[in-house]
Amino acid sequence: MSAPRPRPGIMAIQPYVGGGHAVEGVSNVVVLSANETPLGPSPDAIKAFNNLAEELHRYPDGDSADIRAAIGERFGCDPANIVCGAGSDELIALLIRSYAGPNDEVLLSRHGFLMYPISAQSVGATPVFAPEANYTTDVDALLAAVTDKTRMAFVANPNNPTGSYISSDELQRLRDGLRDDILLVVDSAYAEYVSRNDYAAGAEMVEAGRNVVMLRTFSKIFGLAALRLGWAYCPPDVAGVLNRVRGPFNVSAAAQAAGLAAINDITHMDRSRAHNDEWLPWLTQALTDIGLTVHPSVGNFILVRFDDAVIAAAASAALEAAGVVVRAMGGYGLPECLRITIGLEDENKRVTAALTEFRNTTA
Ligand SMILES: *Cc1c(COP(=O)(O)O)cnc(C)c1O
Repeated sequence: MSAPRPRPGIMAIQPYVGGGHAVEGVSNVVVLSANETPLGPSPDAIKAFNNLAEELHRYPDGDSADIRAAIGERFGCDPANIVCGAGSDELIALLIRSYAGPNDEVLLSRHGFLMYPISAQSVGATPVFAPEANYTTDVDALLAAVTDKTRMAFVANPNNPTGSYISSDELQRLRDGLRDDILLVVDSAYAEYVSRNDYAAGAEMVEAGRNVVMLRTFSKIFGLAALRLGWAYCPPDVAGVLNRVRGPFNVSAAAQAAGLAAINDITHMDRSRAHNDEWLPWLTQALTDIGLTVHPSVGNFILVRFDDAVIAAAASAALEAAGVVVRAMGGYGLPECLRITIGLEDENKRVTAALTEFRNTTA
């Protein structure tokens, strides 16, 4: 008997496994597995979300006009060239669906964000992984991996899960070294957390030409992961393409309303960044002090390396037993590592205490 068969490439996908949020039999779990902000969203965003309850029978604004205007004002971007999506994940998928297909190659860094290869495979394109240097995007390696079939290149900057970043000069060198017909997608999901003066999220590169897109999200510092809201800053042609292929109401009314409130609460965002500025170095130092290898991060998470995959799994189990959920990294080709999101003060201290005990009992 014959049965419907999916398109080539799809069954080769390893389904995305998100960060866990529960431990069986443990209450009061500390969730540090998904790079969510420990401070939650702006109270204004929660209010805006609640206010929507009486309007659930109404379709959202299909143009996301108000939120695009607010994003434009806040980040100095032209709203006409902003396209909103149901999370930046949707925009990644739409970009790949629009610019790559069977026999095309989508270029990314060895430990790049997993949604790039998943979306590439889902359209029958081939993800091509360039090696990294010291867990960091390597521009020369990316350029060396370009072939006639390359249609797109993705760089998360800073990258998840490594936490590393490349300077705006390096990013520009990548753009300059790529053919003009290759679309470079700069995924700046963690841009609001970065405080380095050689860093740029990418808006200027978008405006300088026709072949760079910058992706941003409300899931990270703005704390609205549940609502699914991301945005792409595009050259006009690319915005036109995305507006053709996206669903007419792809961003929910709740996401638009809460996003608008969140973006206007600058005080809350500053507080979230200040919290991270304090606890990112603290947790990095605390875990380094107990002999662990912590990769320098400019995001709201750290990548911690153990001696091997078995020890990393044991550390993860020890953390779980202590009620702390972190992210295993096997899917990223880093089974010897765990990714830990920066939490509240007592959460960071619980991580440190659990890993200290783990080191003392296994050393
Ligand atoms: C979290 C994350 C996103 C955001 O995804 P959303 O779909 O907007 O929630 C995008 N890119 C990277 C690299 C991320 O880590």
